[in-house]
Amino acid sequence: MIDWKNTAEVAIIGGGIMGVCTAYYLAKSGVSDVVILEKELLAQASTGLSVGGIRQQFSHPANIRLVQKSVQLFEHFKEEFGVDINFRQVGYLFLAQKEETWRNFLSDVETQRQYGVPVEVLSPKEIKHRWPYLNVEDLKGGTLGPEDGYADPYLVAMGFANCARKLGVRIEEKTEVTGIKIKNGRVQGVETSKGAISSSIVVNVAGPWGSEVAGMAGINIPVKPYRRQVFMTKSFDVIPKPVPMIIDQDVTFYFRGEDPGLLMGMSDQNEPSSFNLHVDREFLEEVIEAAIHRASILEKAEILRGWGGLYSITPDGNPFIGAIPGFDGFFCAIGFSGHGFQQGPAVGIILSELILDGRTDFDLKPFTFRRQRDIKHKGEKRVV
Ligand SMILES: Cc1cc2nc3c(=O)[nH]c(=O)nc-3n(C[C@H](O)[C@H](O)[C@H](O)COP(=O)(O)OP(=O)(O)OC[C@H]3O[C@@H](n4cnc5c(N)ncnc54)[C@H](O)[C@@H]3O)c2cc1C
Repeated sequence: MIDWKNTAEVAIIGGGIMGVCTAYYLAKSGVSDVVILEKELLAQASTGLSVGGIRQQFSHPANIRLVQKSVQLFEHFKEEFGVDINFRQVGYLFLAQKEETWRNFLSDVETQRQYGVPVEVLSPKEIKHRWPYLNVEDLKGGTLGPEDGYADPYLVAMGFANCARKLGVRIEEKTEVTGIKIKNGRVQGVETSKGAISSSIVVNVAGPWGSEVAGMAGINIPVKPYRRQVFMTKSFDVIPKPVPMIIDQDVTFYFRGEDPGLLMGMSDQNEPSSFNLHVDREFLEEVIEAAIHRASILEKAEILRGWGGLYSITPDGNPFIGAIPGFDGFFCAIGFSGHGFQQGPAVGIILSELILDGRTDFDLKPFTFRRQRDIKHKGEKRVV
């Protein structure tokens, strides 16, 4: 007989970074009866498959502020959670080939500096001087965020999950939510593969499945899954370390150090939305070509393995965060368009405030469901 509790104060759908952070901050604020419902295992979908990048170089102020709020936590993670998350501030170097991209970078730098982001503007000559292995011939310039870097996304998520558990959060793995009960515009609870749970608050943090889960409540939210492939090389000590995250924005190719080798990836702009996770050898050839163009020394790197993960993309590159009008008690945080790992802690705090107090000091206008009607609304340009 399964020990199944059929009520909860808050039912969270999804055990990725968004789910565990939200659960932790709710429990920390005194909510004693929170359950995370995860159809597979914790942090093994987008969160565990991500490359852990943390950067303040965004075009939209709201994304900058979300990451700044998270960075404060990453810097002190060990003190609060007792886990070393391998937070390395090795920097993010964005490179622009096209004139238009370069103009956008310079305008983004103005925005970033207004919000206190340390960012350096570099000419091709300066880039060559600091990273002699890079081909700068076709570049207009680059921007470097020296405080940007990466951390281990699985360790971060499990740090949150373990502390949430200690505060009384129930974590039900291998438990799929199959339905959401709504009556008279109010959430009543969820149906799952193990039984029903009645709850007046339901949180959809189902990542790439966020749109499907919203659909269970009869809500249409435009979030689509797209495959992203990542490749890891064998040990590569030919270029000096640390190797920052280097992003060739116009072709979306990126690489960074991941001891003892390198991580690299690229977006396939022609690929349709799907849940496909397979690694594609033909696409790897395109990645290698882009790599060798940017740094011919990478010809010497040998690929060790690759994997596919899912981005959850929205039409404007910004997520949907908050309550859904007309569905009392139903909250969403989905559509992070490739930057949700680093925003998870901040989103967890914000969602817990919204659920407990009905408000947050964080200006969520750019992330609301209703923004879709505002034709003047601008989204995020730095989606890789
Ligand atoms: C290759 C790659 C690289 C990335 N690099 C970065 C990066 O450098 N920096 C960064 O910040 N972000 C990055 N991201 C994006 C980041 O991984 C995501 O934005 C983030 O992990 C989203 O977290 P989440 O909790 O919303 O989703 P997920 O981690 O996908 O978690 C959602 C969970 O919901 C569960 N679920 C779905 N439906 C149901 C259901 N019906 N019932 C129960 N459970 C359900 C799923 O099983 C899943 O575990 C990358 C992503 C990929 C794929």
